[in-house]
Amino acid sequence: MTMEIILARTSGFCMGVKRAMQIAINTAENSDQPVYTCGPLIHNPQAVAYLQEHGVDSVSDWQTVDGGTIIIRAHGMPNGSIDKIREQGLGVVDATCPHVVTSQRQIKKYSEQGYFVYIIGDPRHPEILSLQSFAQENHRLIADYAEAEKEQPPAKIMIIAQTTYNADEFNKIAQLLKSRAQNAVISDSICQATSERQKEIKRLAADADAVVIVGGKASANTCRLAEIARALCPRTFHVETEAELNRDDFAGVNRLVVSAGASTPDFITSKVIDFLKTL
Ligand code: SF4
Repeated sequence: MTMEIILARTSGFCMGVKRAMQIAINTAENSDQPVYTCGPLIHNPQAVAYLQEHGVDSVSDWQTVDGGTIIIRAHGMPNGSIDKIREQGLGVVDATCPHVVTSQRQIKKYSEQGYFVYIIGDPRHPEILSLQSFAQENHRLIADYAEAEKEQPPAKIMIIAQTTYNADEFNKIAQLLKSRAQNAVISDSICQATSERQKEIKRLAADADAVVIVGGKASANTCRLAEIARALCPRTFHVETEAELNRDDFAGVNRLVVSAGASTPDFITSKVIDFLKTL
């Protein structure tokens, strides 16, 4: 019996990533000065290599750069960074995803209105570092439900998640915190690109014999997809390229589902599918 390979409809670049890639490439094409991103533009090593070929280098710290333009990546940067970069005589092009900008503004607004802001997400993720910087002192970062359970929130709270957080987990956390506060505002910050991908992989993985998730190991939304798929289909493999796949892992598989994170270029997913077709 030949193996059926189903590619998730929602796999691949989301609006924010497409936009950031385009902004970076256009900037490099139209500049005679070096163009840098501060940290990888998106969490996908192959996409970062592609950008490098098109004249966009990644530096870990913009303060080490002598001249040129800094592209603000899709995850955003800490509040005030753009002014600081300009003060150093560098150009700035802002490719922060519009959804992240909305979250930054929401946090700033509610924090200034005296709400205690709960930010739900991965403490090491650059988007979270950026979001936190838009809140005043009155905020706390919560990584998961276990941490939320320990909270005794003040009367007036606002709850917001990293744009790529697991939607079900966020709802559980938000309801828990809300039940313990007098006045809770829950911000709907998980972006559609993320929630649609999560819904689709949930539906597809439930009937799959195996699942392959393609995308960066440091990509939050890709890791989340793999985590959701694995809960429903234990034979789930998260790979950055086809080189990580092992033929023996697919013995007896009839129905194979493939999806890719929002930061995974289509050409990488195509190579993975080409390999899977040879099984
Ligand atoms: S996953 Fe959503 S929030 Fe993140 S870059 Fe893409 S569109 Fe923007």
